[in-house]
Amino acid sequence: MRLENKVALITGGGSGIGREASLLFAREGAAVVVVDVTDDAGRKTVDEITSAGGRASYVHADVSSAKDSEAMVAHAEREFGALHVLFNNAGIMHSSDDDAVSTSEETWELTMRINARGVFLGCKYGIPALRRAGGGSIINTASFVAKLGAATPQVAYTASKGAVLSMTRELAVIHARENIRVNALCPGPLRTPLLMAFLDTDAKRNRRLVHIPMGRFGEASEIAKAALFLASDDSSFVTGAELLVDGGITAAYVTPE
Ligand code: NAD
Repeated sequence: MRLENKVALITGGGSGIGREASLLFAREGAAVVVVDVTDDAGRKTVDEITSAGGRASYVHADVSSAKDSEAMVAHAEREFGALHVLFNNAGIMHSSDDDAVSTSEETWELTMRINARGVFLGCKYGIPALRRAGGGSIINTASFVAKLGAATPQVAYTASKGAVLSMTRELAVIHARENIRVNALCPGPLRTPLLMAFLDTDAKRNRRLVHIPMGRFGEASEIAKAALFLASDDSSFVTGAELLVDGGITAAYVTPE
């Protein structure tokens, strides 16, 4: 097992990538702290892990709140004795996120609060815990949109993911000598509730699909496997990386018919 004796905290563990990663990390031996604001979904992930014989605990925390972020890390140490893996994964894509002219300041602020400030707060309170554990791995979920511009705009979301990517790079350099690795995971378009709610018509979905060389949306479980690599000692010499798991979208100039 690749995460034996490790404690992992995963934000957004009630759905999509966070849920799949929670289940996978638990199967690989980790004790998992599932964090979400949607309590039913978060508890369901924990129930699935524990009924399969794994170790997990749910904590309600809004990652944009300093108090909640501090409390979720304290919960991990109290429940399982330490924290080794911090997966800052929770994020939102607001339905009215659009171009700069149309996007409201409220949508901008909310998106930045959860997607960028949330990762900052996770690191702010998580890094001291990783130090206490003698080191560890931080994985921040960015996105392929941090690398490419799109004509179907979502300007607040894109800016927030750019912030995650550059924050990750700097933290990786700062903490490299402390045995703390910090990497960004950049998923391509996935068939999760987050994107499917945003691309809510066939026309919108097809507009995105034409750009993916593989010709399909990715699955959350495919991202969870990449997160497992970054979480485990298999990636012991990897820090400051941007791991693109995107069906080839960022490599493409023209996609096959
Ligand atoms: P999802 O909507 O399926 O799951 C996100 C989870 O985060 C939900 O359970 C939600 O309740 C939780 N959450 C939302 N706000 C929160 C908050 N303030 N505090 C704590 N939890 C909160 O989404 P997903 O597709 O699994 O996305 C996970 C991450 O991957 C996000 O950061 C997203 O931006 C990123 N991402 C997704 C895609 C995609 O196509 N789906 C592509 C690239 C990056």
